Amino acid sequence: MVERAYNFAAGPAVLPESVLKEAQAELLNWHGCGMSVMEMSHRGSQFAEIIADAGERMRRLLVIPATHEVLFMQGGATAQFAAVPLNLAADGRSASYAVTGNFSGIAAREAAKFATVYTAYDGKANNYSHIPAQEELDVYSRSSYLHYCANNTIYGTAWDYVPEADVPLVCDMSSEIMSHPVKVGRYALIYAGAQKNIAPAGLTVVIVDRRYAGRESRYTPQILSYAKLIEKGSMLNTPPCWCIYILGLVLKWIEEQGGLEAMDQLRRERSSIVYDVLDNSRLYKAHAERGSRSMMNVTFRTGSDELDAEFCKGAAERGLLNVKGHRLTGGMRASLYNAMPVEGAKALAEYMKDFEVKHHV
Ligand SMILES: *Cc1c(COP(=O)(O)O)cnc(C)c1O
Repeated sequence: MVERAYNFAAGPAVLPESVLKEAQAELLNWHGCGMSVMEMSHRGSQFAEIIADAGERMRRLLVIPATHEVLFMQGGATAQFAAVPLNLAADGRSASYAVTGNFSGIAAREAAKFATVYTAYDGKANNYSHIPAQEELDVYSRSSYLHYCANNTIYGTAWDYVPEADVPLVCDMSSEIMSHPVKVGRYALIYAGAQKNIAPAGLTVVIVDRRYAGRESRYTPQILSYAKLIEKGSMLNTPPCWCIYILGLVLKWIEEQGGLEAMDQLRRERSSIVYDVLDNSRLYKAHAERGSRSMMNVTFRTGSDELDAEFCKGAAERGLLNVKGHRLTGGMRASLYNAMPVEGAKALAEYMKDFEVKHHV
C-alpha cells in the first residue's frame, strides 16, 4: 500500500496532509508550552488563543456578518436536528422541511417531536435523485423556519441555489461547508458536523443569527441552547478542544490555498473529472439527476452488485479507498472533499476507465 492512499470516505474523511504533519510536529509540545493541546485546560490562556483563532478564521473565510455568532458544539449534526426546533420553534410552533435525502428526513422526524412539521418537499418518489426547483417548494408561510440540507451526502445531490422563503432559512451544510463562498446573512442558522470537510469527528460548527437565539422553551436543555452557548463563548462545558485546534489548522490551510474561491474552483475541477467519465460511459450510471449533482459526493453504479463489489475491491488494491456507496444507495460513492487532491480524482477516473474497458459488455 502507498504511504498515503486516496481516501474517498464520506466522513470522517480526508484531511490535508500538511495539517496532519503540523499537528504531529507540535503534538507533544504546543508552541513551547510544554504540553499537547489534548492535555491543556480549556480555560487556560493557550486554549483561549486556539479557540479564538479558529473562530476568527471561520469569520474571515465565510465573511460572517456581525449579526451572526459562531458556536462550537458537540453531538454532531444529529444533535442539531433537535437543537434547531428546540430553539427556533419551541412550544409547538411550526417548521417546514425540504426532504431531499436521508439526513433531512431524519431532521424532519426529530423536529416533529417538538414542533408541527410541514413537508415543503419530499424526494422519496424519485429516490432522492432530484433537488426541487424553487417552484416545487411548498413552504408553509407561518413556519418558524424552512430547513434544508445543502448537500445530500448519501445520495450525491446538492442544491445549486439558495431557496427563497418568507420565513427564516436553516441549512445543514455538513458535507459542503467551506467548499465555496456562502452569503451567510441570508441564513438564520447554518450548522455542520465538522468531520466531513473541515475537522475530525466530535465537533459541530453552528453559525446563528443572534436574533434567533433566546427563543427556546424552558425545557430546552442548556447544552442545546444557542443563547446559553453564545453567553458562554461555546464553553458552557468542556468543548472538543482537539477538534477545534485541528479546525483552526484546516482553516489556515484553506486561507493559504486561496480561501473559499479556491476551494470552489477545486471542487468543480475534481468533480468534473469524475462526472466526465460517467457521462462518457456505457457501464456506469450516476444516481443524481444532471441538474442536481453534488460536487462533494459523486454516486454511481454499474447496475450489477457483483461488478460494484469488484470495482470497490480493485479500487482498494490501487490505493483508492472507501469508494463503496452507502447501503441506502448501493453502488459507489466518491467523496471529493476540500482535502482531496485533484490527482486523487484523476487516479479514480483512470481506474474507472480501465475497469470499464476490462468489463465492457
Ligand atoms: C453526516 C451527516 C449528518 C450526520 O452527522 P453527525 O455529525 O454524524 O450527526 C447530517 N447531515 C449531513 C448532510 C451529513 O452529511
